[in-house]
Amino acid sequence: MAQLTFLAVHAHPDDEASSTGGLYRVLADQGVRTVLVTCTNGECGDALDGAKPSSDHHDGDEVAAVRSKELDEAVEILGINRLIRLGYRDSGMMGWPQNEDPESFWQTPVDVAAHRLAAILLEERPQVIVTYNEIGFYGHPDHIQAHRITVAALELIDYEPTLYFNAIPNSAMARFRERWEREERERREANAAKGIEEPEGDPSNEEEIDMGTPDELIGAAIDVSTATDAKRAALAAHQSQMADAFWLKMSLEDFRAAMGVEWFVRVTNPQSLDGVVTDIFAGYR
Ligand SMILES: [Zn+2]
Repeated sequence: MAQLTFLAVHAHPDDEASSTGGLYRVLADQGVRTVLVTCTNGECGDALDGAKPSSDHHDGDEVAAVRSKELDEAVEILGINRLIRLGYRDSGMMGWPQNEDPESFWQTPVDVAAHRLAAILLEERPQVIVTYNEIGFYGHPDHIQAHRITVAALELIDYEPTLYFNAIPNSAMARFRERWEREERERREANAAKGIEEPEGDPSNEEEIDMGTPDELIGAAIDVSTATDAKRAALAAHQSQMADAFWLKMSLEDFRAAMGVEWFVRVTNPQSLDGVVTDIFAGYR
């Protein structure tokens, strides 16, 4: 039987941990070969002192160097066999001036990056590939571009892998949202008790992107409960980016309970699978 190989195309260092960290660890434990393609260096992340890219002392190259080491650590924790950095510059959030940087991933012609990715696919021949949907899960230009180059690369290779997009079903999203709202309320109440007043956030200023997926569109629900500690450790490895991360504010028990499943939408289906599979390599073994 051919070697099973899994490959994910991610936008930034840390995305491999947040959306596929459990899956990577589970597959590594099963002896599946795992490959990670990280498209950008993450220059627009937080600096070590928490500075945002709009700050004058934020140095994107320094941030990228820190994140590169963090990525190496996460890759080790998740048992990823091969990491390929495409090395594009982080494009920042939609509307940021970094979107216009000619070196940015967003400005890179899809065709150019897709050919590079196709060469990797032809070398590794992964049966299963994961990336984001057409809105990049939450609208980030680098995530959208990761989607575009992956879909384009599949047109350039001589076989059809099973492509999945990472997803969170609406039912689970509702549970997450309830938790965020409860925690936010508790935080405000605690602050109010201490006499700290904060202005109510203006929800109209926040563009809400619907990140949930209708439950009936989910094609794979993978039990990663044996890998939640590794996932948490991989997230924590990206420590420069985790200052505001809700994941790491959860207790270990809550994290285990909340993160025991990773979900995916099936996009190509060469194995003619039906319904929701619990093995991402369903049809291949
Ligand atoms: Zn990202």
